[in-house]
Amino acid sequence: MPVQLLGAGEIRALAAELDVTPTKKLGQNFVVDANTVRKIVHVADVSAGESVVEIGPGLGSLTLAILEAGARVTAVEIDRRLAERLPATASAHGVTAGELDVVHADALRVTELPGDPTVLVANLPYNVSVPVLLHFLETFPHLQRGVVMVQAEVGERLAAPPGSKVYGAPSAKAAWYGRWRLAGTVSRQVFWPVPNVDSVLVSFVRDDAPRGTEEERVRTFAVVDAAFRQRRKMLRQALAETLGGTSASASAILEHAGVVATARGEELAIGDFQRIAAVAAG
Ligand code: SAM
Repeated sequence: MPVQLLGAGEIRALAAELDVTPTKKLGQNFVVDANTVRKIVHVADVSAGESVVEIGPGLGSLTLAILEAGARVTAVEIDRRLAERLPATASAHGVTAGELDVVHADALRVTELPGDPTVLVANLPYNVSVPVLLHFLETFPHLQRGVVMVQAEVGERLAAPPGSKVYGAPSAKAAWYGRWRLAGTVSRQVFWPVPNVDSVLVSFVRDDAPRGTEEERVRTFAVVDAAFRQRRKMLRQALAETLGGTSASASAILEHAGVVATARGEELAIGDFQRIAAVAAG
């Protein structure tokens, strides 16, 4: 039996049955449009037999679309009512037992996933979208690629190149792991409740080889955070505290790393931050 997707009426009925009133705190805006969930799966290029992880499956609309493509899904949901109901929804919609694992957990803290998923597909809870993405990329090295729906401003940041107005700490940190690009816009009308922000799809592909060790990453991210904490300041000032305590010590390290001391953080690529951190660590 093929997998059947959830309709808008069915989603509201399910929520009523579970006594779920979508909350802002958990970023609960459910997609009630079959074309949208199919589009996300299409953009993610999910194929039969792949192992996909979904963060925040909610009532299951996107989950069923991923399963419809023949992939198996590990879904991480923080809301117990939603996590407990999802297996029954899936089996009532034609999903074979064994194709779906539901993990009831906070995605920000999860450290183990069944099924070793290689693809991430999610309509992310907006309040935690960047930390959850960075946590997953850091914790699950077998994740090769993904497509996520996020608030438009966040998506534009994640995909921004150095030098662009919206380039910031999330852009530089995301680039540590791979390449990111905007992959489409999503109408507010496909959600219930309708959010007061626009949404976009962002895709990423992890680099073939890791850029550095965990120690190097931690040191590099500390430099990134310091540079963007005072983004209008020149690097020799913004990084003074992090790089030896004075703007002179910072200038010397920056020069050694081949970075102009009067530049600003928004001009630097992740490789530049990495070199600064390496020189500072000696
Ligand atoms: N995937 C569903 C859809 O597209 O209709 C729901 C998406 S909704 C934007 C976000 C979902 O993430 C909700 O189901 C919410 O309960 C869940 N969620 C929020 N914070 C979470 C967290 N820290 N860990 C796991 N799930 C979370």
